[in-house]
Amino acid sequence: MQEKYQELLNRLLEINDLNSAAAVLNWDQTTFMPAGGAEARGRQLGTLGRIAQEKLVDPAIGRLLDQLQPWADSLPADSDEVAMLRTARRDFEQATKIPPAFLGELYGHMAMAYQTWTEARPANDFARVAPYLEKTVEYSRRLAEFFAPYDHIIDPLIDNADYGMKAATVSAIFAELRAALVPIVQAITSQPPADDSCLRQYFAEKDQDAFGVEVACAIGYDFERGRLDKTHHPFTTKFSLGDVRITTRYDEHYFSDAFFGTVHEAGHAMLEQGVNRIYDGTVLGNGTSGGVHESQSRTWENIVGRSKPFWKHFYPRLQARFPMQLAKVSLDSFYRAVNKVENSLIRVDADEVTYNLHIMLRFDFEMQMLEGKLAVKDLPEAWRERFRQDFGIVPPDDRLGCLQDVHWFGGPVGGVFQGYALGNILGSLFYSQALQAHPEILSELEQGKFDTLRSWLVENIYRHGRKYTAPELIQRVTGGPIRIGPYIQYLKNKFGELYDL
Ligand code: ZN
Repeated sequence: MQEKYQELLNRLLEINDLNSAAAVLNWDQTTFMPAGGAEARGRQLGTLGRIAQEKLVDPAIGRLLDQLQPWADSLPADSDEVAMLRTARRDFEQATKIPPAFLGELYGHMAMAYQTWTEARPANDFARVAPYLEKTVEYSRRLAEFFAPYDHIIDPLIDNADYGMKAATVSAIFAELRAALVPIVQAITSQPPADDSCLRQYFAEKDQDAFGVEVACAIGYDFERGRLDKTHHPFTTKFSLGDVRITTRYDEHYFSDAFFGTVHEAGHAMLEQGVNRIYDGTVLGNGTSGGVHESQSRTWENIVGRSKPFWKHFYPRLQARFPMQLAKVSLDSFYRAVNKVENSLIRVDADEVTYNLHIMLRFDFEMQMLEGKLAVKDLPEAWRERFRQDFGIVPPDDRLGCLQDVHWFGGPVGGVFQGYALGNILGSLFYSQALQAHPEILSELEQGKFDTLRSWLVENIYRHGRKYTAPELIQRVTGGPIRIGPYIQYLKNKFGELYDL
C-alpha cells in the first residue's frame, strides 16, 4: 500500500509541477514580459494547462484512489494520509465531472469575453460585452449542471472556492450581516466625512516601496522565500513553499493603494509560507478556501494594518520617510484618514464597513442571473436601482457600475464574490480567538511586534494547508460554526470610537 500511496503522490506532484510552471509563466506575463510575448505565452499556458488536466483525469489516479481506500479506512481519521486521499479524491472527482471538450470551449469563450471587457470598460460600452456575459451565464449554468443534484444552481460553483458552503448558508449569514451593518453605515454616513487629504499628496514610488517592504518584513512576510514586484492588478502566487511572491501597484498621488495592497497580499502570502513543510507539492499544500485565504489578507491589511496600535509604532517611521507630507499631520488625523467610511461606487476602494454591501449586491445578482430571474440586458438598471437603495448614490455610468469587476468577464458567474465577505467575518472570528489566547497581542502591536499573533495563526490555521475543510477548520479553531458576532463587535468597537456612535 505504501508503494501505491507513493505512486499516487508522485503523479500528483507531477501535476503540481506543471501547474507551478504555469504559475511562473503567468507571473512573468503580468510583471516583466514584453507585450510581444503575449501570443506565444497564451499558447504555452494553454499547453501546460492541458497536460496538467490530462494527467489529473487519468483513470490510473481513480484506480489508485480506489485501491488505497481500504487502507485509508484503517488509518486514524485525523492522519495526513487520510486527508491527502480525501482531498485528492475531491480534486479528481471535480476534474472528471467536467468533460474536457466543455472546458476547452469555456476557456476559449472566457478569453474572448475578457478581451472584449478590457475594451468595453474604458469605453463604457456595456452593450458590447453583454452578449459575452449572456454566454458566460449559460456556461456557468452548464458547469453547475455537471455537479447535479444540488439545492441551488450556484452551490457547485461556491463549492469550488468555498467547499462546504451553500447558497442557503451564505444567504442566511448575509441577511444577518446586512441587518447589523446598515444601522452602522447610516450612523456614520450621516456625519461629516473624515478628511483624507493627507493621503492624497505626492508620495514618491521608491519611498512607498521601501516603506511597504519594511512593513511586510516586520509583520513576517519572508523575503528569503518571496519577492515583491509591480503589476496592474495585484495578486499573490506560489511556486513552492520556498517561493511565494507578491505584487502591488503604485499611485504616487494616493498613499493607500500600494501600502494596504502590499500588506493585503503579504497576508495571503504569509498563509502560504506558513503551510506545513511536509505538505509542499501535495494536494494539501495550499490555503483551504477562498474565505479562509481572504480572512488572512484582511486580518493583516485591516485588523492589524488599519489599527491604532499598529500606527502608534509605524506612523513616526512613515513621517520620517515623508516629512514634507506628514510632519504636520497628527497620528489621530492619519488614523481617521486611513479609516474613512463613505458610500462609494467602487468595491475595491470601499472601506471596512461598507465593503460587504458591495459583495451582497453581487452575490444576489449572481444567483438571480443563474436562476434566470435577472436578464443580462437588465443588469445595468438593476445595478443602479440597488445602489440607490443600498448606498443612496447612483453610478453615473456602467464603468463605475456593473463593468467595474473583472470576475464575471474573466471567469464563470458565481462562486467567488462570497469569499471576500466570508473572509471579513472569519478574520475577526479567528482574531478574537487569538486575542483570547494571547491578550498581550495588542500591546505587542504598539511595539511593532507581530510574533505572537503570527505564530498563533501559523499554528492554528496556516500550518494545516488544506488538511481541514473551511467548516472543519472553523470548528476546530473557534469551537463552533461561522458566525458574525465577533466581526460586528469589532466594527462597533473600532468605528464606534472613531465616529463617536
Ligand atoms: Zn485578497
